[in-house]
Amino acid sequence: MFDRLSSLVIALTLVAIAAIFAALSGGDPLSIAVMLLAGFIAAATVYSALPSAPPSPQNAVAALVETPAISLLRHPDFAHWVDQEKEPLLGTADNIVTIANDAAIRLLGRHIVGADVRTAIRHPATSDWLSQIADGAPLETINLIDFPRPGQRWTMRIAALSGSEQIIFLSDRSAIDAADKMRSDFVANASHELRTPLAAILGYVETLQDMNGDTDAPTRDRFLSIIQREAGRMQQLVIDLLSISRVEADRFRRPTTPIDLATIVKTTIVQLRDSEQARADDIVANLGDDPQPMLGDEAQLGQLAHNIVSNAMKYGHAGTPVVVTLAREGRRVRLSVTDEGDGIAPDHLPRLTERFYRVDEARSRSVGGTGLGLAIVKHISERHQGQLDIDSDVGKGTRVSVTFPLRAEG
Ligand code: ADP
Repeated sequence: MFDRLSSLVIALTLVAIAAIFAALSGGDPLSIAVMLLAGFIAAATVYSALPSAPPSPQNAVAALVETPAISLLRHPDFAHWVDQEKEPLLGTADNIVTIANDAAIRLLGRHIVGADVRTAIRHPATSDWLSQIADGAPLETINLIDFPRPGQRWTMRIAALSGSEQIIFLSDRSAIDAADKMRSDFVANASHELRTPLAAILGYVETLQDMNGDTDAPTRDRFLSIIQREAGRMQQLVIDLLSISRVEADRFRRPTTPIDLATIVKTTIVQLRDSEQARADDIVANLGDDPQPMLGDEAQLGQLAHNIVSNAMKYGHAGTPVVVTLAREGRRVRLSVTDEGDGIAPDHLPRLTERFYRVDEARSRSVGGTGLGLAIVKHISERHQGQLDIDSDVGKGTRVSVTFPLRAEG
């Protein structure tokens, strides 16, 4: 109701009035003096106990400015969080790196703490970006092309804190770029593979049309058989392309159907003996009598066996054995196929399961290969928790084998 000073004046006035009234009433001077003294002391005590006036709004702003800004970068919880982040992260104040997590140190080096951010993240985009921010540009994500090494790409994102502090997030995009490149390479390769037989078909059809029925029967038959062969190649390519996309789509779906690998391999061998009659007698099957129970996709495992055995028949020398074996190895079963052919030089081995990779393109085409067989094998094997091994001796032959976990019986 009253401010501190007014309250004191009122209290003293009341004490004085009381003293004058007591004096006029003929009061004892000593009692009046004691009363005055007690009144003054009481007023002074109450005055000192009353709260002082709150600061005006102007004072409040001044108080905030005087209080030092609270730094998020120096907060102990911040350091704790930064260390848990898997991606590189830097804290900067006035563009000087004040904190960096392990991932940032691994990427950029230990020297970055205390360094200017342009020295820490050595890329032309960093300097451009900092000057743009200084001019008030929005905080957009920046691409660091060829960073830290040629062919790699990282992105840099910033969060502005109070004062001159910032947090910089770095993120590796190289794997995403590599996957994108693989996808576009695949489309380009598939188109190229389809275009080659298509061009042959169109060429021979046009020639037949130009000859306008003037061709002799043997020439016409030869052209027609080329057209048929090239159309068959296109058909096989389309079948393999569909297979690979289906197998890839199923990649993360573990198979749950109980199957017998021995029966599947037996069926595949029967089919191949029928379709590749020239080498039917070369297949030697050592499959044993035991079932090989596992969880699997019957059609996919049939395709895996077909691709490996047919490769051995295509690339092994005619008249030499193609040995197909099933053998238990602890809790796994190994399917192996051995041929006697030219073999594969060691530097090709790691790349054989890449799509469209061939050791000898002309040879592959001449035996009707699409370059997708082993890529399909690899995907099917991975989906079944298989382990694919390819061993080869140049001039002697090749062994391709896959082991799969057996299903626990009982
Ligand atoms: P393709 O359809 O060309 O046979 P694959 O993916 O099945 O494609 O195999 C890739 C390449 O690996 C083949 O082009 C061939 O050069 C080589 N290859 C595969 N299996 C064998 C083998 N048993 N012996 C020799 N080379 C092989």
